[in-house]
Amino acid sequence: MWVSESVNDLRQRRRAIDQPVALVPTMGALHAGHVALLEHAKRLGGAVIASIFVNPTQFGPGEDFERYPRPLEDDLAVCEQAGADGVFAPQPDEVYLPNESTLNIDLPTLTGDLEGAHRPGHFQGVCLVVAKLFNMVQPDAAVFGRKDYQQLKVIEAMTAALAMPIAIVAHPTVREPDGLALSSRNAYLNDEQRGHALGLYKALSAARELIETEGENDPAAVESAMTQVMTAHHVEVDYAAVRHPHSLARLDCIEPNLTGGIAALVAGRVGDVRLIDNLTLGGGAS
Ligand code: AMP
Repeated sequence: MWVSESVNDLRQRRRAIDQPVALVPTMGALHAGHVALLEHAKRLGGAVIASIFVNPTQFGPGEDFERYPRPLEDDLAVCEQAGADGVFAPQPDEVYLPNESTLNIDLPTLTGDLEGAHRPGHFQGVCLVVAKLFNMVQPDAAVFGRKDYQQLKVIEAMTAALAMPIAIVAHPTVREPDGLALSSRNAYLNDEQRGHALGLYKALSAARELIETEGENDPAAVESAMTQVMTAHHVEVDYAAVRHPHSLARLDCIEPNLTGGIAALVAGRVGDVRLIDNLTLGGGAS
């Protein structure tokens, strides 16, 4: 497995590959969720390139950019074990030019709410770095986790709007046996907080019960139930929302057979650790 730290070296490596390339973009601190994405990319049949880059432009002031874990040696071993052919692991000055002009790629109808409302500028940073990574790596496909559901929708929309010739492949969320979604940020949690963090999945499970078993069709009722469950688990709630699965628009009424299901999305803080999770619910869920 090769490792490139520069765009020039990456381009040479890329030119030498004569089969389709699947990219798995990550910020490192790799866990079994990332491994599942890499293995899925491998099953697409071509070469797999992982990127490991903690992208400064998607972190807001006061967020955890500085303390975000960067165990590069371990991450490279994980990539190799998962079958990656190469890893692109640049430093920020390889991705961002000195005094680079601000390029604002935004899809405001998708980014104005939920994560976008709580993390101003986050999705502009995500769009910018993913567009750059796509141009640097020139993949045929890119694999993203449903764990970051709004990000997945934003990337799908950006790729389509810019006519990028890249298939966006979604992978289901990988969870601990008790349901907690794997996240690099789980490493920040102490034992008590780990228990509290389960409140996010419990809230989503309550939404599933309400929608799929009890036939609840009022979004506000489901949202308030999710909020209650998170609060009972000492999670400081940022949002608990039921949305259209593609547009992320608010719903007047939950139609249980809506094609693509209903997106239930939650975010909250356990201590100073911010966590997100989501499930797609309803008879039409895919
Ligand atoms: P990150 O390193 O957190 O930026 O995530 C890199 C990619 O891994 C993104 O596409 C995430 O959605 C995906 N990912 C993170 N956690 C999980 C998980 N628990 N299950 C599936 N995909 C995940």
